[in-house]
Amino acid sequence: MTAVKLPLPAHIHRLSTQVANQIAAGEVVERPASVLKELLENALDAGATRIDIDIEQGGLKLIRVRDNGCGIYREEMPLALSRHATSKIKDARDLEGVASLGFRGEALPSISSVARLTLISRTADADSGWQLQGDGSDAFGDPMPAPHLTGTTVEVRDLFYNTPARRKFLRAEKTEFAHLEEVVKRIALSRFDVTISLKHNNKTVKLFRTAEDAAAEQKRIAEVCGAAFVEQSIRLDFAAAGVRLWGWIAQPAFSRSQADLQYFFVNGRVVRDKLVTHAIRQAYQDVLFAGRHPAYVLYLQIDPVQVDVNVHPTKHEVRFREGRYVHDFLFRAIHKALADLRPGAKPEVVYETAAPDSASAPAAPSVSATSWFNRSSQRVMPLQVQEQLAVYASMHPSQQTLVAEPSADAATSEDMPPLGFALAQLHGVYVLAQNARGLVIVDMHAAHERITYERMKAAFHGDGLKSQPLLVPVTITVSEREADLVDEQRDFFTTLGFEISRLGPEAVVVRQVPALLKNANIEQLVRDVLSDVVVHGHSQRVSHEINELLATMACHGSVRANRQLSLQEMNALLRDMERTERSGQCNHGRPTWTQLSMGELDKLFLRGQ
Ligand code: ADP
Ligand code: MG
Repeated sequence: MTAVKLPLPAHIHRLSTQVANQIAAGEVVERPASVLKELLENALDAGATRIDIDIEQGGLKLIRVRDNGCGIYREEMPLALSRHATSKIKDARDLEGVASLGFRGEALPSISSVARLTLISRTADADSGWQLQGDGSDAFGDPMPAPHLTGTTVEVRDLFYNTPARRKFLRAEKTEFAHLEEVVKRIALSRFDVTISLKHNNKTVKLFRTAEDAAAEQKRIAEVCGAAFVEQSIRLDFAAAGVRLWGWIAQPAFSRSQADLQYFFVNGRVVRDKLVTHAIRQAYQDVLFAGRHPAYVLYLQIDPVQVDVNVHPTKHEVRFREGRYVHDFLFRAIHKALADLRPGAKPEVVYETAAPDSASAPAAPSVSATSWFNRSSQRVMPLQVQEQLAVYASMHPSQQTLVAEPSADAATSEDMPPLGFALAQLHGVYVLAQNARGLVIVDMHAAHERITYERMKAAFHGDGLKSQPLLVPVTITVSEREADLVDEQRDFFTTLGFEISRLGPEAVVVRQVPALLKNANIEQLVRDVLSDVVVHGHSQRVSHEINELLATMACHGSVRANRQLSLQEMNALLRDMERTERSGQCNHGRPTWTQLSMGELDKLFLRGQ
């Protein structure tokens, strides 16, 4: 046997502090924006109420953050620049319940190992400020006196000057500055009580003043997210069992082609979290146009013990100890806020339990958390105005018939319902109505489709869809595969309100249909349902996709364009919209109605200008 010649082991040696810090920097310091994020978090942790940011050349030349926080003791300045030194936690137990943004004690040493860093700081009781330079090693000179008010300035010059490989990855000044701006926006949204200014190459680019009231908060949101977002978003505020979610969500019609307007904060820390994104997407599922992204600025307040922030060095990800509960909570809160989006409905603020911080862990998904959600959100409409529904009722067999004569002129603004009264129908597509504010325009098919869909969902999940016999059974030629399906899935079709059976190898006969859809084109309806079932496979799968299937059916059961409606029918449609959840959008996320106020109309005619 010949011995394999092994190489001699290389000798193990300890890395210099500077190299160790540079390696750590690889994880936290990717670009100027990551430096800025760390510095801003430190300023906030120090209790600053004013932060001034100076950037030169997209942060490649200079990133300077000055705050009016508590400052650092002169003797501890070297520690601030040393690895694993922090004032924010003491031991492992403190890790379970971190309330500060930082806690790892590695940002300043990492940054100082890949850039020229100067720390200037003064505590409230010191006679002057002190200045110290760091280069990522443990060799510090003595701090030198430097003029400074109470607070801290950290100056970072020539990022990656000593690590050319990383410098190569930096982009143009403009791109890097865009990243920096995004960091500032997030911090601005996270703390309305802090004034933040941002200068680029000595020019002020952003100034966020302390926002003390709701109007000022809205102004800040508009500055960050655009005025259109503020106009088309709703405010929500939900609390249950120690968790609170508040903020703004855009109405589905204001969706984005990219996921670029999504801000989510957990206890003040911006996070990008899969669980969160998933819960919100699900809540929007039924109202958002396919492929579009919802927009939101949301704040989750939860006992810090319930969140693990020590998942990744950049602290962008978190782990919830009760992930399922949090997912559920987010979904319900947003789903409900969206369901309340009806003409005239005001999104409500719901508090079921006492103030969130007084309650403890949301360990057991409590009864109260569920009960506030399940409470019927269908508030009773003021029924001062009743309508003759004879004709419209034929489209909705289950609709009760009310009696009275509505009229746009006769109604005073008090008893005017939110969508007002119908005036006319335009080209068989739009309903025109007059309400207190001016003109209402309704996309008749889209609106009716949503109403039918919501009714079908309610019926399906309630007593089941009621079925109605056809006077004359309808025979339909289908593929053999589809005819097989009719045999195999007979029970499933029954739950949908159909009575349908096989007539031959490639023919089926329909004897009963869902009562809500009795006016639909039966042949088309059955063909579409069959092809949906073929696509989604066996009925088990289908029950997951049931909403899609119901939406397909609802589409068939809704008034088509070019169908002439009487004023009564139109008014009945308006009242139904006011009563129906999510009726602000059709099943595909398009708006169902719009308002032109008298002011807007006046503008069109240059009236009173
Ligand atoms: P961490 O924030 O994780 O503690 P850092 O390296 O970012 O670690 O900062 C180290 C320490 O320096 C902090 O714990 C804090 O005590 C102090 N420090 C850093 N920046 C500031 C600041 N702007 N104001 C006051 N203290 C600061
Ligand atoms: Mg820090």
